[in-house]
Parts: sequence; structure tokens; C-alpha cells
Amino acid sequence: MTPYDTSLPQARRARLSGAEAPTGLVDSFGRTVTYLRVSVTDRCDLRCVYCMSEHMRFLPKAEVLTLEELDRIASAFVGLGVRKLRLTGGEPLVRKGLMTLVERLSRHLKSGALEELTLTTNGTRLAEFAPELARHGVRRINVSLDTLKPDLFARLTRGGDLGKVIGGIEAAQGSGLKVKLNAVALARDNAAEIPDLIKWAHGRGLDMTLIETMPLGEIDEDRTDQFLSLAKVRADLESYWTLRDIPLTTGGPARYVEVAETGGRLGFITPLTHNFCEACNRVRLTCTGTLHTCLGREDASDLRAVLRAGGSDEDLTAAIRLAVDAKPQGHDFQIDRGAAPAVSRHMSTTGG
Ligand code: SAM
Ligand code: SF4
Repeated sequence: MTPYDTSLPQARRARLSGAEAPTGLVDSFGRTVTYLRVSVTDRCDLRCVYCMSEHMRFLPKAEVLTLEELDRIASAFVGLGVRKLRLTGGEPLVRKGLMTLVERLSRHLKSGALEELTLTTNGTRLAEFAPELARHGVRRINVSLDTLKPDLFARLTRGGDLGKVIGGIEAAQGSGLKVKLNAVALARDNAAEIPDLIKWAHGRGLDMTLIETMPLGEIDEDRTDQFLSLAKVRADLESYWTLRDIPLTTGGPARYVEVAETGGRLGFITPLTHNFCEACNRVRLTCTGTLHTCLGREDASDLRAVLRAGGSDEDLTAAIRLAVDAKPQGHDFQIDRGAAPAVSRHMSTTGG
């Protein structure tokens, strides 16, 4: 991993930090980074089978960024032109003091520097936090939900209570938050239920996005058994519904359609069957302060090292610019039977 790498050629460093530095965060392929996802914890109150192993070993507290460090790094990105911040995890709502961080970050909404502050959650603690999130300027959130069957939910999450998530979604809507549902498409477990999930979401005024499983981190199962191509899901849906492509962009890699029969919107995130790297505007910060500029590659820059070595705001900015400048052109995910995951870190560390 590269902390602030002082061995870089003089000319490149000068270009990134001197008078010629671009105002925004532009990588060497001309893509502007305007979206940061921040994992605020690697911990979670669920253990989804495709995300974690049953007995996960979580990080020692000292390795995880403090709320002040999270604020400092996220704010540096906002200073560099990032317009959208998404808090994720692990489960962001299990992080102690998260509302303090949300309140602090909301100053960038008030100043107009930030367009959107949002989060991705499993929804189990939303009933408790939705009103406060709304009060601090959060407008939209993503809730992950793969099934409406209580038993299957408990099995997929290794012990989760579906009622809590549904209660959380209702509380969020009651607080005025717009909710989008994310469901991972699983060949064995929820393939047949996908149309019901869509109808349920659209019936409640929720947008919905389907996600293909990604080979991230060692888990206890073989992912090839569960991989379900969204091209196939789409073809199946089109055999009885009318899907119309719509140009909705949420700053993410989802392609959206409108379902005529339900009147709702449906997104497809297909990292494996469609390469969306050419329009990628995002980077990810782990809860340990590692910046990944590509979800599917091992590239990493250690921003925590810059902070904990007493680095100034200028040092932090320079380290961020260097990392973004080296953002890879694209990823090369593959799901091969028996092959090691393309990237060894878990989604819960990187932040989905
Ligand atoms: N705990 C929160 C949640 O579940 O929404 C936020 C973190 S979770 C890692 C973010 C998203 O990543 C969830 O929608 C989850 O379903 C998805 N996810 C986790 N592991 C995945 C995998 N291997 N492939 C595809 N999506 C995955
Ligand atoms: Fe937890 Fe989210 Fe991973 Fe499920 S997907 S184990 S809720 S971090």
C-alpha cells in the first residue's frame, strides 16, 4: 500500500500539487471523481451469506478511523469537489456516534458544497435513527433487502428479523426519507421471488435495484452456485412485463428501466456482465482509512497514515490527488468455479 508516496517523479507531483493542479479530482483518464463512499465500520449486526463468513473477525478499534478522522478525510474530498457522500459499512447504523458524524458532515450540505449526504443500511436500526437522519439533511437512503420471506431472511442474514427491516423502511418513509431497495440476485434463494419483491417495492413507492453477486472476500459458500445473471432476470421479466429504458442517472453504475405494469423504476447493477468503468466517478474509503479507487482491484492508498503521521490538510489533499491520479482504467471481475475471489477484501470492509 502506498501512504503519501514521496518517491513519485517530481514532474507528476508538481502537476498534482502545484499551480497547475486541476481544481477538481480528475484522474489520468479524464474522469472526474465526484462521489465518495465511506465505510464507517466493518462491523454488522447481520451476517449475510454472500457478504461475510459466519465467524468474522472484526478489526481492533485502534485500526478504525475515529469520527474526527472520518470527518477530516470526507471533508477534504468535499473540498476537492466531491458532491455526493454515501456512508456505508459494515452496517453504518451500528457505529457508535454515527449521528454526530452525520451532523458534522451536514455543514457541507448547508454551505452548498455537498449536494447529497446519504447512506446504505440493512435497515434493522432505521426505526431508531430515521428521524435524526432526516433532521440532518439526509434525503434518500438505500436499504438492502433480498427477500420478504421471514424464514429465508433469517437464513440469508444468519439470524436477522425481517419485521425490524420493514418497520425501519416504514419509519424512514414516515420521516420523509426517500427509500431505494437494493436486492442481491441469488440463483438458488430469491430468483423466483424477484417479481414479488419488485411489486412490493413499487407498491410502496420505492425504487428498486437488483445487484449481481460480486466476488469480494472469502465467504463460507461457493458463489458460483448463487450467481444469477441480471441479463437473464431482465429477459424473464420482459416475458410478462414491459420495461422501458430511462436515462435516470444516480451517479452510480445502475441502468434504469420503468416497469409499465407497476409504474415503478428498476435498476440493474451488473459489474460482471457489463463493464461500466468508463463512466466511473467514484472512489471508496474503508473504515481504516484506505482509499480504493476501483472496487475490483487491489489498488490502495493509506490516508490514515497521512493523518496519524501528523500530516497537514495540504498533505492529505496531495495524497488524495496522487491516489486519484492513479485510478485504474477498469476492473476484471470474473466468477470462475473454484477460483479465489478477484479481490480478497470483503464488501463489508470496502463499503458496498
Ligand atoms: N450493511 C449495509 C447493507 O447491507 O446495506 C451496508 C453495507 S453492504 C456491504 C452494501 C451492499 O453490498 C448491500 O446491498 C449488500 O447486499 C451488498 N453486497 C454485499 N456483499 C456483496 C457481494 N459479494 N456481491 C454483491 N453485493 C454485495
Ligand atoms: Fe451486514 Fe450489509 Fe454485509 Fe449484510 S450485506 S452482512 S447487512 S454489511
